[in-house]
Amino acid sequence: MKRFILSAMAVSLTVAAAAQEKKEYPQPEAMRPGMTEFWTPQPKVVTPGDAATASAPSDAVVLFDGKNLDAWVSSNTGGDAEWRVHDGVFTVDKSKGDIQTRESFGSFQLHLEWMVPEGITGESQGRGNSGVFLQNMYEIQILDCYQNETYVNGQTGSVYKQVVPLANAMRKPGEWNVYDIIYNAPVFNEDGTYKVHPTVTVIQNGIVLLNNFTILGTTEYVGLPRVVKHGDGPIKLQSHGDPSEPISFRNIWLRKL
Ligand code: MG
Repeated sequence: MKRFILSAMAVSLTVAAAAQEKKEYPQPEAMRPGMTEFWTPQPKVVTPGDAATASAPSDAVVLFDGKNLDAWVSSNTGGDAEWRVHDGVFTVDKSKGDIQTRESFGSFQLHLEWMVPEGITGESQGRGNSGVFLQNMYEIQILDCYQNETYVNGQTGSVYKQVVPLANAMRKPGEWNVYDIIYNAPVFNEDGTYKVHPTVTVIQNGIVLLNNFTILGTTEYVGLPRVVKHGDGPIKLQSHGDPSEPISFRNIWLRKL
């Protein structure tokens, strides 16, 4: 009797297994091209700048288009930016200190052109030193690094003293250099530490110098980077104290991201 029960159980298990194998579930519908093609929302239309006149894209905040420094103020006084505007460009006046934009920004795409004067003198950090500060906190170095060696984490395109650029893409003095900088602003925790670090991509003359670099903190001349909680901030241009001939800027615009 016991034997009969065991074999009956074995048969029923086999039948159940066979039934399970046969059970069929619906299969995903076969994919068609249209199932993965979305038509909305359409990206906004941005009219690119005109290559011949180097004008800004249609949605850009124009920070300098050759006319005046109305978009800028003195970092020292908050009054007018007194660097010298001439011939569609402006030139650093080292006696007047740094200048910064009137407006503050979060994340952005920044276009900026700068030129080291022909015949410039000096060496290492003492030759054509300036810089562009992102949100008034983090310096992307500007320096005449054309046949001019310096500490490599302080050369053109470095986040000053934090990273070595991937290339030296300098044009020689007297020729214009083009910076395109893509910056993502940080997010802070309540306690003032980074929840999300700021990051930056720097392209000079079409050549990538920094590829989505994670900024560590402030760019100090002496000491390690510090983490300082901040919100939106201006773009600042550096008036460096070195005695070399001052550099010039032109065509500066920014697109908010
Ligand atoms: Mg500098």
